[in-house]
Amino acid sequence: MQDCIFCKIVHGEIPSTKVYEDAMIMAFQDIQPQAPTHILVIPKKHLRSVMDLSVAYAELINRVFAAIRAVAKEQGVSETGFRLVTNTEADAGQVVHHLHFHVLGGAKLGQMA
Ligand code: 5GP
Ligand code: ZN
Repeated sequence: MQDCIFCKIVHGEIPSTKVYEDAMIMAFQDIQPQAPTHILVIPKKHLRSVMDLSVAYAELINRVFAAIRAVAKEQGVSETGFRLVTNTEADAGQVVHHLHFHVLGGAKLGQMA
C-alpha cells in the first residue's frame, strides 16, 4: 500500500535490519527499541490490524506465529521469555497501520497498563 512504512520496508524502499523472512512474513529490528530484544513481525500483505483478519487468513496467521517462534529462538528469548504485543487503533497507540507483532524480551519487563 502506498505511503505505508512497513509496505515500503517489505519492498526494500526503506532499509531495515531484517532478522527473518519467508514468502509471507518479514521480521526486523524496531527502530526505537523498548527492550534489549525488540523485533517487529509482520505479514508482507498489507492488513491494517488484527481486525482485518478472518478464517480466510488461517495460513498467514499460522505462519506469523511460526515466524514469532523462530525469531524468539534466534534472539535467545524463547526460554527466558518474551512479550508479544499488537496495538490496535488509537486507544492502544497504534502508529503504523500495517499489522505487526512486537516481540519484546531480553530483560525482566515491566507490568502492563
Ligand atoms: P505501533 O505503535 O504502531 O504498535 O508500533 C510501531 C512501531 O514501529 C514502533 O515501535 C516504532 O518504533 C516502529 N517503527 C516506526 N517506523 C519504523 C521504521 O521506519 N523502521 C523500523 N524498523 N521501525 C519503525
Ligand atoms: Zn502496509
